[in-house]
Amino acid sequence: MSRILFATSEAHPLMKTGGLADVAGSLPRALKSLREDVRLLMPAYPDAIARAQHVKTATRFDIAGYAITLLETRLPGTQVKTWLVDCPALFDRPGNPYLNADGEPWIDNAERFHVLCRVAVEVACDRAGLDWRADLVHCNDWQTGLVPAFLQGEADRPATVFTIHNLAYQGLFPYEKFVSLHLPPAMWTHHQLEFHGQLSFIKGGLVFADRLNTVSPTYAKEIQSPEFGNGLDGLLRHRSTALNGILNGINGDEWNPNRDEHTAAPFNANTLTGKTTNKLALQSAFGLVQNSKPALIGNVGRMVEQKGVDLVVQALPQLLAHPVQVVILGSGATIYEDALTELARQYPKQLAVKIGYDEKLAHLLEAGSDMFLMPSRFEPCGLNQLYSLRYGTLPIVRRVGGLADTVIDASPSNLVSGEATGFVFDKATKDALLTCTERAIKCFGDQKLWRRMQRTAMRQDHSWRHSAHEYVSLYTLAMQAAKSKQKA
Ligand code: ADP
Repeated sequence: MSRILFATSEAHPLMKTGGLADVAGSLPRALKSLREDVRLLMPAYPDAIARAQHVKTATRFDIAGYAITLLETRLPGTQVKTWLVDCPALFDRPGNPYLNADGEPWIDNAERFHVLCRVAVEVACDRAGLDWRADLVHCNDWQTGLVPAFLQGEADRPATVFTIHNLAYQGLFPYEKFVSLHLPPAMWTHHQLEFHGQLSFIKGGLVFADRLNTVSPTYAKEIQSPEFGNGLDGLLRHRSTALNGILNGINGDEWNPNRDEHTAAPFNANTLTGKTTNKLALQSAFGLVQNSKPALIGNVGRMVEQKGVDLVVQALPQLLAHPVQVVILGSGATIYEDALTELARQYPKQLAVKIGYDEKLAHLLEAGSDMFLMPSRFEPCGLNQLYSLRYGTLPIVRRVGGLADTVIDASPSNLVSGEATGFVFDKATKDALLTCTERAIKCFGDQKLWRRMQRTAMRQDHSWRHSAHEYVSLYTLAMQAAKSKQKA
């Protein structure tokens, strides 16, 4: 058993903006079931405090000029001990944890996540008055990137793992922040925290962590190339022997078509009739005509170029020439929100769009759609295609990152061997997306074949069981690496 401090800026259900929250909300629980002593650390946003139960004060201390209270609770629905970093000046703000009401990053994000990192170090080194010391700190994305940088100078330090959930978000700030945060001057070099004249939080993780990983094997390879490396591919190639990919799992209790409180009827791989009930409920929720016959294509996600939403906008007029319905839920860049809303106005019988974040509706959409569209430009792992597989909603995806690792294309040979679980295309173009979707629509016309593919998809095991074991092995490697570095 190892003592793991899992440091994150969000964890479902306390706070969620994307896949990181899903991972932070479910991996620690899976590790706990493998008997690891895992503790979660995240900011005490007002929503997180409101959603937590039995919250008590664990300790108080000062760090970087801020008075910190650590609140102790359990991650809801689990036995995972969770510490919430309560620092009202930095975290007592409603809404999105990173952006203000205008969608701009909070002006003091560097200070906010610098403090989160400092607190993680104090907790991990047993200087927070909690009578607990970490063997390893598991850091996630740029918000916790400075932790490995701070820890590398500590005697008898815990090991560090840094997980890249999305390399596109790097925590870049002007040099003045490097100065005002009193970061060690020796770290201002492009070998450490400097990135083209800016302070890079993510480099703290990429340079200093004992082991690095990302959330799918294909993305782990892709980010070592200029196309996907966001300017960090050289560093990642340099650290390639310490970098691997571990696919995310899904929370099988929350995303279980047979026991999903957010859907209209249960179903499973053997009895798919409940899926039709969900299809009708979904059509009704989106104000479309209720009809089980036409293919219903769904999409949930952030409306940003990463997700290929611009390709969806371009493809829709031609796609809607087919007898299909399309339902879309999401929010993001105004340009895409507006374009989709306008298209829904033009095609009211076939296309319905809801702008916003709605966890319950996302479940119904997965349960009721026949197909799920995910034409990402890049995709570290992607969770929605995994939910889709589990719900027999065949994914239409681009061959990148975790999508390439989890969806098996309905090619003639994969159909013959019975392995096909979805539809995969290569180029990030409207035409490639359309051709692939048309292939899916044609397949849908053969309901016997479709059912077979649905059953194959639903039987894939994307639970955390396997991946949590891989994380335990990764932790072991990181602890060995930390020991040998400290001896050297
Ligand atoms: P990313 O982290 O890049 O946004 P992922 O596919 O890894 O993408 O995870 C996104 C998670 O957020 C999924 O659980 C998805 O269902 C959820 N999600 C995204 N947008 C919405 C929305 N508008 N309403 C409900 N859930 C959403």
